[in-house]
Amino acid sequence: MDRSFFHCVSGILLSIFFISAGLAQQAVPPVTVEKIRGNVYQVKGGAGANTGFIIGEKNVAAIDAKMTEEAGKQMVDAIKKLTSLPIGWIIITHSDQDHVNGLTGFPQGVPVIAQENTRAHMDKAFRSPRERAYLPSVTFPGKLTIYQDAGSQTGRIELLYFDPAHTDGDAVVYFPDEKLAFIGDLIFIGRDQLIHRHKNGDSRGLVRTLKGVLNLDADIFLSGHSDPVTRRAIQDHIRNIEDKQAKIAQLVKEGKTLDEVKKIYGIDGQGAGSRWPSLVEIIYLELTHTK
Ligand SMILES: [Zn+2]
Repeated sequence: MDRSFFHCVSGILLSIFFISAGLAQQAVPPVTVEKIRGNVYQVKGGAGANTGFIIGEKNVAAIDAKMTEEAGKQMVDAIKKLTSLPIGWIIITHSDQDHVNGLTGFPQGVPVIAQENTRAHMDKAFRSPRERAYLPSVTFPGKLTIYQDAGSQTGRIELLYFDPAHTDGDAVVYFPDEKLAFIGDLIFIGRDQLIHRHKNGDSRGLVRTLKGVLNLDADIFLSGHSDPVTRRAIQDHIRNIEDKQAKIAQLVKEGKTLDEVKKIYGIDGQGAGSRWPSLVEIIYLELTHTK
Protein backbone atom coordinates (compact mmCIF):
# COMPACT_ATOMS: atom_id res chain seq x y z
CA MET A 1 0.00 0.00 0.00
CA ASP A 2 1.21 3.49 -0.84
CA ARG A 3 2.61 5.13 2.29
CA SER A 4 0.97 8.50 1.67
CA PHE A 5 -2.39 6.75 1.16
CA PHE A 6 -1.88 4.94 4.47
CA HIS A 7 -1.07 8.21 6.23
CA CYS A 8 -4.09 9.83 4.73
CA VAL A 9 -6.43 7.03 5.85
CA SER A 10 -4.96 6.92 9.35
CA GLY A 11 -5.26 10.71 9.51
CA ILE A 12 -8.95 10.47 8.62
CA LEU A 13 -9.50 7.70 11.15
CA LEU A 14 -7.73 9.75 13.81
CA SER A 15 -9.90 12.79 13.02
CA ILE A 16 -13.03 10.64 13.19
CA PHE A 17 -11.85 9.33 16.55
CA PHE A 18 -11.26 12.85 17.91
CA ILE A 19 -14.49 14.24 16.49
CA SER A 20 -16.50 11.41 18.03
CA ALA A 21 -14.62 11.75 21.33
CA GLY A 22 -15.43 15.48 21.27
CA LEU A 23 -19.11 14.78 20.55
CA ALA A 24 -19.23 12.24 23.35
CA GLN A 25 -17.87 14.86 25.75
CA GLN A 26 -20.51 17.39 24.70
CA ALA A 27 -23.35 14.90 24.80
CA VAL A 28 -26.59 16.76 25.45
CA PRO A 29 -28.27 15.66 28.66
CA PRO A 30 -31.49 13.71 28.12
CA VAL A 31 -34.85 15.40 28.61
CA THR A 32 -37.11 14.25 31.40
CA VAL A 33 -40.88 14.59 31.39
CA GLU A 34 -42.94 15.04 34.52
CA LYS A 35 -46.72 15.08 34.71
CA ILE A 36 -47.74 18.12 36.74
CA ARG A 37 -51.55 18.15 36.75
CA GLY A 38 -54.23 16.85 34.39
CA ASN A 39 -52.59 16.53 31.00
CA VAL A 40 -49.98 19.23 31.59
CA TYR A 41 -46.37 18.08 31.58
CA GLN A 42 -43.06 19.79 32.31
CA VAL A 43 -39.94 18.98 30.29
CA LYS A 44 -36.56 19.46 31.94
CA GLY A 45 -33.05 18.74 30.69
CA GLY A 46 -31.71 18.84 27.15
CA ALA A 47 -30.22 22.22 26.25
CA GLY A 48 -32.16 25.29 27.33
CA ALA A 49 -34.95 26.25 29.68
CA ASN A 50 -37.69 24.06 31.11
CA THR A 51 -40.55 23.69 28.68
CA GLY A 52 -44.00 22.15 28.85
CA PHE A 53 -46.86 20.70 26.88
CA ILE A 54 -50.50 19.77 27.26
CA ILE A 55 -52.08 16.78 25.56
CA GLY A 56 -55.56 17.74 24.38
CA GLU A 57 -58.26 15.56 22.82
CA LYS A 58 -57.10 16.23 19.28
CA ASN A 59 -53.59 17.61 19.47
CA VAL A 60 -50.72 18.68 21.68
CA ALA A 61 -49.83 22.28 22.54
CA ALA A 62 -46.14 22.80 23.28
CA ILE A 63 -44.87 25.65 25.43
CA ASP A 64 -41.38 26.86 24.49
CA ALA A 65 -38.87 24.97 22.39
CA LYS A 66 -35.49 24.67 24.20
CA MET A 67 -32.18 26.03 22.91
CA THR A 68 -30.90 23.83 20.09
CA GLU A 69 -32.43 21.91 17.20
CA GLU A 70 -31.31 18.69 18.87
CA ALA A 71 -32.97 19.62 22.18
CA GLY A 72 -36.14 20.63 20.29
CA LYS A 73 -36.14 17.17 18.66
CA GLN A 74 -35.61 15.53 22.06
CA MET A 75 -38.71 17.35 23.32
CA VAL A 76 -40.74 16.27 20.26
CA ASP A 77 -39.59 12.65 20.76
CA ALA A 78 -40.53 12.78 24.44
CA ILE A 79 -44.04 13.95 23.47
CA LYS A 80 -44.32 11.13 20.87
CA LYS A 81 -43.59 8.57 23.58
CA LEU A 82 -46.75 9.65 25.42
CA THR A 83 -49.19 10.24 22.58
CA SER A 84 -49.67 9.69 18.87
CA LEU A 85 -51.55 13.00 18.59
CA PRO A 86 -49.78 15.63 16.47
CA ILE A 87 -48.33 18.86 17.83
CA GLY A 88 -51.02 21.41 16.92
CA TRP A 89 -49.63 24.56 18.51
CA ILE A 90 -46.32 25.92 19.72
CA ILE A 91 -46.66 28.70 22.28
CA ILE A 92 -43.61 30.86 23.00
CA THR A 93 -43.31 32.61 26.40
CA HIS A 94 -40.61 35.07 25.25
CA SER A 95 -37.79 35.51 22.77
CA ASP A 96 -34.67 34.37 24.68
CA GLN A 97 -32.50 31.85 22.83
CA ASP A 98 -32.84 29.16 25.48
CA HIS A 99 -36.61 29.17 24.86
CA VAL A 100 -36.82 29.56 21.07
CA ASN A 101 -33.70 28.32 19.26
CA GLY A 102 -34.91 24.71 19.39
CA LEU A 103 -37.93 25.55 17.21
CA THR A 104 -36.15 24.11 14.16
CA GLY A 105 -36.33 20.69 15.87
CA PHE A 106 -40.15 20.82 15.63
CA PRO A 107 -42.27 19.82 12.62
CA GLN A 108 -42.64 22.69 10.15
CA GLY A 109 -46.00 24.33 9.53
CA VAL A 110 -47.34 24.13 13.10
CA PRO A 111 -48.70 27.55 14.17
CA VAL A 112 -46.18 29.30 16.43
CA ILE A 113 -47.86 31.82 18.76
CA ALA A 114 -46.22 34.67 20.67
CA GLN A 115 -46.88 38.14 22.05
CA GLU A 116 -46.25 40.65 19.26
CA ASN A 117 -43.10 42.17 20.83
CA THR A 118 -41.62 38.68 21.17
CA ARG A 119 -42.14 38.13 17.46
CA ALA A 120 -40.33 41.42 16.78
CA HIS A 121 -37.30 40.27 18.83
CA MET A 122 -37.31 36.88 17.08
CA ASP A 123 -37.62 38.61 13.71
CA LYS A 124 -34.30 40.38 14.43
CA ALA A 125 -32.56 37.26 15.75
CA PHE A 126 -33.71 34.60 13.26
CA ARG A 127 -31.55 35.11 10.16
CA SER A 128 -31.47 31.89 8.15
CA PRO A 129 -34.45 30.91 5.97
CA ARG A 130 -34.67 27.72 8.01
CA GLU A 131 -35.06 29.66 11.29
CA ARG A 132 -37.38 32.21 9.72
CA ALA A 133 -39.80 29.44 8.75
CA TYR A 134 -40.47 29.17 12.50
CA LEU A 135 -41.21 32.84 13.23
CA PRO A 136 -44.55 33.18 15.05
CA SER A 137 -47.45 32.95 12.60
CA VAL A 138 -49.96 34.27 15.16
CA THR A 139 -49.33 37.19 17.54
CA PHE A 140 -51.42 39.02 20.11
CA PRO A 141 -51.05 42.32 21.99
CA GLY A 142 -52.77 41.65 25.35
CA LYS A 143 -54.81 38.45 25.33
CA LEU A 144 -55.45 35.48 23.11
CA THR A 145 -57.59 32.41 23.79
CA ILE A 146 -56.81 29.10 22.12
CA TYR A 147 -59.56 26.50 21.96
CA GLN A 148 -57.25 23.55 21.65
CA ASP A 149 -60.01 21.02 21.11
CA ALA A 150 -62.40 22.88 18.83
CA GLY A 151 -65.97 21.79 19.53
CA SER A 152 -65.18 20.64 23.05
CA GLN A 153 -65.77 22.37 26.37
CA THR A 154 -62.26 21.55 27.57
CA GLY A 155 -58.83 22.56 26.37
CA ARG A 156 -59.00 26.32 26.75
CA ILE A 157 -55.61 28.02 26.91
CA GLU A 158 -55.37 31.74 27.68
CA LEU A 159 -52.30 33.71 26.69
CA LEU A 160 -51.96 36.91 28.70
CA TYR A 161 -49.57 39.82 28.46
CA PHE A 162 -49.56 42.36 31.28
CA ASP A 163 -46.60 44.75 31.14
CA PRO A 164 -42.90 44.84 30.21
CA ALA A 165 -41.33 42.51 32.79
CA HIS A 166 -38.50 40.01 32.07
CA THR A 167 -38.81 41.32 28.47
CA ASP A 168 -41.54 43.38 26.80
CA GLY A 169 -43.20 40.28 25.36
CA ASP A 170 -43.71 37.79 28.21
CA ALA A 171 -46.75 35.60 27.67
CA VAL A 172 -48.37 33.99 30.71
CA VAL A 173 -49.82 30.69 29.51
CA TYR A 174 -52.87 29.98 31.66
CA PHE A 175 -54.75 26.68 31.75
CA PRO A 176 -58.04 27.47 33.57
CA ASP A 177 -59.22 23.82 33.67
CA GLU A 178 -56.01 22.77 35.43
CA LYS A 179 -55.70 25.94 37.55
CA LEU A 180 -52.10 26.15 36.41
CA ALA A 181 -49.99 28.67 34.54
CA PHE A 182 -46.67 28.51 32.74
CA ILE A 183 -44.95 31.83 33.41
CA GLY A 184 -41.70 31.62 31.43
CA ASP A 185 -38.93 33.65 33.09
CA LEU A 186 -41.16 35.82 35.28
CA ILE A 187 -39.76 34.08 38.35
CA PHE A 188 -36.31 32.79 39.31
CA ILE A 189 -35.95 30.89 42.56
CA GLY A 190 -32.62 30.84 44.39
CA ARG A 191 -30.93 33.17 41.90
CA ASP A 192 -31.16 36.78 40.82
CA GLN A 193 -34.25 37.68 38.77
CA LEU A 194 -33.14 38.51 35.25
CA ILE A 195 -34.59 41.59 33.58
CA HIS A 196 -33.51 42.22 29.99
CA ARG A 197 -33.37 46.00 29.55
CA HIS A 198 -32.15 45.51 25.97
CA LYS A 199 -35.57 43.92 25.36
CA ASN A 200 -37.34 46.68 27.33
CA GLY A 201 -37.78 44.57 30.47
CA ASP A 202 -38.72 46.49 33.64
CA SER A 203 -38.80 45.49 37.33
CA ARG A 204 -41.88 47.64 38.05
CA GLY A 205 -43.71 45.98 35.18
CA LEU A 206 -42.58 42.60 36.52
CA VAL A 207 -44.28 43.35 39.86
CA ARG A 208 -47.49 44.39 38.08
CA THR A 209 -47.30 41.27 35.91
CA LEU A 210 -46.81 38.95 38.89
CA LYS A 211 -49.77 40.60 40.65
CA GLY A 212 -51.77 39.90 37.48
CA VAL A 213 -50.63 36.28 37.64
CA LEU A 214 -51.88 36.07 41.24
CA ASN A 215 -55.31 37.27 40.06
CA LEU A 216 -55.65 34.07 38.03
CA ASP A 217 -57.54 31.15 39.52
CA ALA A 218 -54.36 29.03 39.61
CA ASP A 219 -52.18 27.47 42.28
CA ILE A 220 -49.29 25.84 40.41
CA PHE A 221 -46.85 27.89 38.36
CA LEU A 222 -44.25 26.41 36.02
CA SER A 223 -41.30 28.45 34.82
CA GLY A 224 -38.18 28.29 32.66
CA HIS A 225 -35.52 27.82 35.31
CA SER A 226 -37.14 26.71 38.56
CA ASP A 227 -39.21 23.85 39.89
CA PRO A 228 -42.99 24.33 39.98
CA VAL A 229 -44.03 26.79 42.67
CA THR A 230 -47.17 27.76 44.57
CA ARG A 231 -48.77 31.19 45.02
CA ARG A 232 -46.67 31.71 48.15
CA ALA A 233 -43.41 31.75 46.13
CA ILE A 234 -44.83 34.38 43.80
CA GLN A 235 -45.98 36.51 46.75
CA ASP A 236 -42.47 36.23 48.27
CA HIS A 237 -40.86 37.10 44.93
CA ILE A 238 -43.04 40.24 44.63
CA ARG A 239 -42.18 41.25 48.20
CA ASN A 240 -38.43 40.79 47.64
CA ILE A 241 -38.47 42.88 44.47
CA GLU A 242 -40.60 45.61 46.10
CA ASP A 243 -38.24 45.69 49.14
CA LYS A 244 -35.25 46.14 46.85
CA GLN A 245 -37.04 48.85 44.86
CA ALA A 246 -37.90 50.78 48.06
CA LYS A 247 -34.39 50.46 49.56
CA ILE A 248 -32.65 51.46 46.34
CA ALA A 249 -35.06 54.41 45.90
CA GLN A 250 -33.98 55.63 49.36
CA LEU A 251 -30.28 55.25 48.41
CA VAL A 252 -30.85 57.18 45.17
CA LYS A 253 -32.56 59.91 47.20
CA GLU A 254 -29.45 60.06 49.38
CA GLY A 255 -27.42 60.71 46.23
CA LYS A 256 -25.60 57.35 46.15
CA THR A 257 -23.90 56.38 42.89
CA LEU A 258 -24.49 53.04 41.17
CA ASP A 259 -21.11 51.77 42.37
CA GLU A 260 -21.92 52.72 45.95
CA VAL A 261 -25.29 50.98 45.78
CA LYS A 262 -23.72 47.86 44.29
CA LYS A 263 -21.13 47.87 47.09
CA ILE A 264 -23.88 48.07 49.72
CA TYR A 265 -25.41 44.94 48.14
CA GLY A 266 -21.98 43.25 47.85
CA ILE A 267 -22.11 43.13 44.05
CA ASP A 268 -18.91 43.47 42.01
CA GLY A 269 -18.95 44.01 38.28
CA GLN A 270 -21.87 42.23 36.63
CA GLY A 271 -22.94 40.66 39.87
CA ALA A 272 -23.53 37.15 41.15
CA GLY A 273 -21.38 35.45 38.51
CA SER A 274 -23.92 36.31 35.84
CA ARG A 275 -23.18 37.78 32.43
CA TRP A 276 -26.29 39.89 32.90
CA PRO A 277 -26.59 42.99 35.12
CA SER A 278 -27.90 42.30 38.61
CA LEU A 279 -31.44 43.20 39.60
CA VAL A 280 -29.98 45.88 41.90
CA GLU A 281 -28.33 47.57 38.92
CA ILE A 282 -31.50 47.33 36.83
CA ILE A 283 -33.59 48.93 39.58
CA TYR A 284 -31.00 51.71 40.04
CA LEU A 285 -30.97 52.48 36.31
CA GLU A 286 -34.78 52.52 36.20
CA LEU A 287 -34.96 54.93 39.15
CA THR A 288 -32.35 57.28 37.69
CA HIS A 289 -33.89 57.10 34.21
CA THR A 290 -30.58 55.94 32.77
CA LYS A 291 -30.94 54.40 29.33
ZN1 LIG B 1 -35.47 34.49 29.51
